[in-house]
Amino acid sequence: MILTIILLFIIGAIIGSFLNVCIYRLPRHESIVSPGSHCPNCDMPVSWYDNIPLVSYLLLGGRCRRCGDPISFWYPAVELLTAVLFALAGWKFGPNVELLPALLLIAALIVIFFIDLEHYIIPNVVVLPVAVIGLGAMIAISPDRWLELLAAGLISGVFFFAIVLIFPKGMGLGDAKMAMMLGFFLGWSVVVALFAAFLLGALVGVALIVAGVKGRKSRLPFGPFLAVGAMLALFYGPTLLDKYLRLVGF
Ligand SMILES: [Zn+2]
Repeated sequence: MILTIILLFIIGAIIGSFLNVCIYRLPRHESIVSPGSHCPNCDMPVSWYDNIPLVSYLLLGGRCRRCGDPISFWYPAVELLTAVLFALAGWKFGPNVELLPALLLIAALIVIFFIDLEHYIIPNVVVLPVAVIGLGAMIAISPDRWLELLAAGLISGVFFFAIVLIFPKGMGLGDAKMAMMLGFFLGWSVVVALFAAFLLGALVGVALIVAGVKGRKSRLPFGPFLAVGAMLALFYGPTLLDKYLRLVGF
């Protein structure tokens, strides 16, 4: 078990390095395969030995080898975040086939979290393929849940689509597609994800207004809240849903 967790931490750091590329390039409509990584200041290509996740940043002291320009702290931060979440998934699901869709969902949520936070978009090129692959993988793993997964995705999507129609300024179609994706992965646990997202969004929104960072009218991207809610639901969804249903007397 401990070996699985360590292995997933390392795989997570490597995948996190790739997610950094996606987070930077996808909103700029650049290719995620070529050209290779290069320093944004002096344009020097980053050699493989300077591109080892987490390790290189520490060895280089967070600076470019040639020009000494600081490398953004966010690169190692995303690598560490991915490594930790992959390790947690390994601990939660063990070396089982259920681990694979969980890792795919985590990777997609990290990319969406950072892109939506900065650019206010949830790229179709992430959310649509991941939704289809997720639904396929989840049904392949538990065929008897096909109706639940399909219904949870479609109902969540339509629910958000209705919100977009009623409050076009509050949500976007990207949020609706993301909600659909979450339902395909989580089944009815998606309720936990959506509830947590709305609660967290309201709390953070009020806190930002009180702190004077945001005005009453300013927009907040909703994708990051959906991502955090989905993470909660992935790890504790069935437990929380069960507790809630007992509470209301089901
Ligand atoms: Zn440089």
